[in-house]
Amino acid sequence: MEYQKFGNKYVLRLDKGDEVIESIKAVCRQNAIKLGTVTGIGAINKAVIGIFESGTKKYHSKEVTGDMEIASLTGNISEMNGEVYLHLHITLTDSTYKAFGGHLNQAVISCTGEIVLDVIEGQVDRAFSEEIGLNLIKFVG
Ligand code: FE
Repeated sequence: MEYQKFGNKYVLRLDKGDEVIESIKAVCRQNAIKLGTVTGIGAINKAVIGIFESGTKKYHSKEVTGDMEIASLTGNISEMNGEVYLHLHITLTDSTYKAFGGHLNQAVISCTGEIVLDVIEGQVDRAFSEEIGLNLIKFVG
């Protein structure tokens, strides 16, 4: 991965074998990014995507492999307990041009990934909601 900062934005180029979430987290840690948005496209050959079942408050996840385009990677950067917290969703397309996706747990770049981080000047926390079963955004200050 290589990246460069332009104003409040970081342009990332992920390379073959790079894992998307770890790569974005590394940039956030190296640059003390606490809040922001993520957008991206690229090509991957492995991903773990999830769906949250609201009734049971459980995440179900599935590994998908093969040549896939990232038609859309979108999400946000925040913090929880002082650690970088990414919440990313992905839409992938496969060799049949069909789209599928969900909550993103892992994605491995097969060719290249082009990701932009847009930094928001500010900070929010996250707290686990017993009622919902997820780590929700918690506004501080
Ligand atoms: Fe999600």
